[in-house]
Amino acid sequence: MHHDESRDLYDRALSVMPGGVNSSVRAAIEPYPPFAQRGDGGHLIDADGNRYVDWVLGLGPLLYGHDTPEPVQAAVQSHASEGPMYGMPTEIEVEHAEFVARHVPSVEMIRFVNSGTEATVSAVRLARGYTGRNKIVVMQGGYHGAQESTLVEGNADNPRPSTAGIPQSFSQHTLPVPFNDEEAVHEVFEEHGDDIAAVLVEPLLANKGIVMPEDGYHETLRDLTADHDSLLIFDEVITGFRVGGLQCAQGKFGVTPDVTTFGKIIGGGYPVGAIGGKSEIIEHFTPSGDVFQAGTFSGHPVTMAAGLETLRYAAENDVYDHVNSLGEQLRSGLTEVVADQAPEYTVAGTDSLFKVLFTRDGPRDLDGQCEAGCRQRPDCPRYEYCPKNGADVGNCETDRWRRVFWPKMKEQGVFLSQNQFESQFISYAHSEEDVEKTLEAYKEAL
Ligand SMILES: *Cc1c(COP(=O)(O)O)cnc(C)c1O
Repeated sequence: MHHDESRDLYDRALSVMPGGVNSSVRAAIEPYPPFAQRGDGGHLIDADGNRYVDWVLGLGPLLYGHDTPEPVQAAVQSHASEGPMYGMPTEIEVEHAEFVARHVPSVEMIRFVNSGTEATVSAVRLARGYTGRNKIVVMQGGYHGAQESTLVEGNADNPRPSTAGIPQSFSQHTLPVPFNDEEAVHEVFEEHGDDIAAVLVEPLLANKGIVMPEDGYHETLRDLTADHDSLLIFDEVITGFRVGGLQCAQGKFGVTPDVTTFGKIIGGGYPVGAIGGKSEIIEHFTPSGDVFQAGTFSGHPVTMAAGLETLRYAAENDVYDHVNSLGEQLRSGLTEVVADQAPEYTVAGTDSLFKVLFTRDGPRDLDGQCEAGCRQRPDCPRYEYCPKNGADVGNCETDRWRRVFWPKMKEQGVFLSQNQFESQFISYAHSEEDVEKTLEAYKEAL
């Protein structure tokens, strides 16, 4: 497998773009990332003509893989050709908002924006404006986009910016706690309860994982926020319209947040974000309320058309059945491969998400373990060993994953996420053949 073209492109890119890329994770592959040339269903062809089974799928938005269904294509083309955007409201925004409000339990109203980052920035501002409080509780190692309030590390007693460029004084308003740790979040509410505007959490850790919530964890967050008049914000930028189908992860888990942030699939492959929730809260955005929020491209007609048709197509076809059943096959196949070859590793994921976490230790006897991805079942023999939070995932064999395992998979034509931490995604265009090929590749590479 040759990468001469990608190397030359990366060489040029390094001279004109920092790190040669427009989003950091794309450069994680060393010594240089393959450049994408085009997609083909569930496959990707790089600049040198190499073909891969693609489990990255744009890092989440591509529910259909690279070939969008005909109605999505048609809607995109007609909206693009009518004139791309107006700075005026359009019918397609109303239709998309109606669709989301009809399907997602927490959503009565929605504001569309242009990225997941913008969605979480606006949600945090909304929570602060609505409650008149400053502090935000987040999960250690969680990711909510490239924004000041959440690029924070450390713990609730000692939060600090996780990047240069953020004043220490900003990070004082963010309280990081470990995911799945009920005691930690109780403590933080005991100490700061009256100052907490919101808890911001992914329903499952999909950017540092995959880590499922333990039974009762979200109920605890729901009760604590309600008791303290704080908001519960679910960041469903990844899980939205992927986990739990059209009702999203909140429907699957049966916990209704006050506010939900969306991105990725809700724009059908085009730049998007959104903030949804109860009208009484969402109406605090300007112009109906006093929390300023605006955007030149927000509710962009081409994005709205792509997003709405994507969701409509999923409502009318066996999309979620297909991707979830392939997910089940992949995760159960991986569970067998891992049991044979690397019993200390943990197979994770649900619905159309999957990952093998390179955990360092596991039980001697695997009898009765979770069969198709870790469920945090206390009676699973792996329960004491499987990652419960971001730090546990951070302690995995990330160097082996990156330096040895990933390149071996790539050489076999299987393209996995650029690092140990991001989810891998299954699309409607993937087939059982892709699953078989991938399982064989894992057998070689593990
Ligand atoms: C991708 C992601 C974001 C950021 O979305 P962008 O569109 O990249 O700005 C926020 N939250 C979660 C959970 C994400 O996965």
